[in-house]
Formats: sequence, C-alpha cells, structure tokens
Amino acid sequence: MTLRLELVDALREERYEPDGKCPFCEHRLTNGEIITGFNRDPNDYTTKCPMCKKRFEPKLVYAPMGGLRFELAFYCPTQVLARMENEAGLLVMHPAEIKREHPAVYHSAVAHHGSLKAAFKKIGREYRFVERDQKDDWRGKVVPFLGRMPDTVIADCAEISVGFVRQLRRQMKIARYRARDHVDN
Ligand SMILES: [Zn+2]
Repeated sequence: MTLRLELVDALREERYEPDGKCPFCEHRLTNGEIITGFNRDPNDYTTKCPMCKKRFEPKLVYAPMGGLRFELAFYCPTQVLARMENEAGLLVMHPAEIKREHPAVYHSAVAHHGSLKAAFKKIGREYRFVERDQKDDWRGKVVPFLGRMPDTVIADCAEISVGFVRQLRRQMKIARYRARDHVDN
C-alpha cells in the first residue's frame, strides 16, 4: 500500500498519508496494520490497534500541492466500494464533483484502488471519466515503479490498460513483479 500511495503521489501530485495513531496507547499503526485491523464491515469504520487491541477510527490525511492538509475519514477498501455501490448517483458524477461533494469516498477510492475508474470496475461498473491529463507524461512517472508492484496496480493508478504497462516494462527490460520477492508493509 505504501508503494501505491507513492505512485499516486507521483501521478497526481497529491500526497496521501493514512494517520493511524492509536488514541489509547499512542502506538502508530503502519499502513499495513491499519488495513489488517479493518473489519471488512461496510458500517464499521474502525481499525484494531495491534498493541492494545482497542478499536478506533483511522484518518486519511490528504495534502495536495500548496501546503494544505485535510483530514478525512479513512474507509477500508470494502467500505469505499460499498459506498460507491449504494450512492447510485456517483457513477454519473464528474471526478471533480465527487471530490468536492464526497471527499472521503473520493480519496479512499484513490488511496486503495488507484483511481475512481478502477474502483468502479471492481463493483462491475464502467466509469466514463478519466482523470489523467492526456498530455501528462505517465510513462516517465510510472517507470520507477515498474516491476516493484503488479502491472495491474500500476494500470489502475495511471488509468491506462495493463497491456501498455506490460509493454513499457518489457521495453525497459524489467522483470515482472512477483509477490514472493517482496515483503510489502
Ligand atoms: Zn493501542
């Protein structure tokens, strides 16, 4: 997850930082611990502290360019998809509108699934908006991440087809990502 957030930051110039400091024992949860502690229950926004075993609601700190910081509810991957499924109107809304009207949904979707398009795809819906700027140099931005995470994850974050990612990776002679070679936090 940490690496995916770095890629999102590189592509969007928006920094995401899950804030999982336990209010009971002050343990700072890693991103992996926050994700592991979620219940996968669409109505329970808490995660579990691995040290004191108590539950609390983690936050997602979102820092776009310009030094601003916003603190939002941090939904787990399942919760954000459930929200997108339940709010039928989201599918026809422009990304900028979702970002403004439903910031926690928008930012949790991007943080966990790479993009709105990729998140909608996981609930079987086709989202027709692409946020990526057509003139944007996505190739240059994704190169440092090739082979360090699955091609599919890179494709989701960059809103491009997995075939493009594979082709680029092969051109650069970078071996494909294999989970057993990496220990993700
Ligand atoms: Zn704790």
